[in-house]
Amino acid sequence: MAVDAVIFDWGGTLTPWHTIDAAELWGRICEPHFAAAEAAAHAAALLAAEDELWRAGSADRHSATMSQLFDLAGVTPTDALLASYTRAWEPHTLTDPDAPELLGYLRDRGIKIGVLSNTLWPRSWHEQVFRRDGVLDLIDGAVYSSEIEWTKPHPEAFLAAMRAVGVTDPAGCVFVGDRPYDDVHGAQRLGMRAVLVPNSDVPPFDSAVPDAVIGRLADLRGHIEAWQ
Ligand SMILES: [Mg+2]
Repeated sequence: MAVDAVIFDWGGTLTPWHTIDAAELWGRICEPHFAAAEAAAHAAALLAAEDELWRAGSADRHSATMSQLFDLAGVTPTDALLASYTRAWEPHTLTDPDAPELLGYLRDRGIKIGVLSNTLWPRSWHEQVFRRDGVLDLIDGAVYSSEIEWTKPHPEAFLAAMRAVGVTDPAGCVFVGDRPYDDVHGAQRLGMRAVLVPNSDVPPFDSAVPDAVIGRLADLRGHIEAWQ
């Protein structure tokens, strides 16, 4: 089966894996906007709310948004606070240097390029990152779980990503991700090929056997050529 589309996970896949100290990050985001004691309390509440939303999402695969996060934490997301948030995240969002050439290669072969990310962030934030790094125009369609009801590995998330790039047969799709359960198992269960980028300390899922394992994004090209 030829490859019609390649759909990428975002965190740890299109953007290299970073270990993030979430408590430190929330502290730094809140610090300029509140008195010291209030900043510490808000940072702790936001951290707890973030943990709770991810935990709830892992249990039932329902998605969540930044608005829900701030509501749950009881913190008002002012423009200034949100600006501090995106600035604090900036070093962790840099697109993998292999990506522009790889995406250009896929596009030259008429292969659709998609993104499917489990994320609280709105589309505009992700598009800002892709625009900054010169890859936004190389992406045919993207699905951010914050905009739909479900997260990976729910089949509806993968089907939404297929619709976003305009393909109908999962057998013609290759999914590339760093999470054995959410990405590899989720994609394969729907009938896609799945490629693992094992560059993060995510939990293993032994019954998911990827169709290929790559050490860096550039290595995807050889597999695509073989499958074509
Ligand atoms: Mg990931």
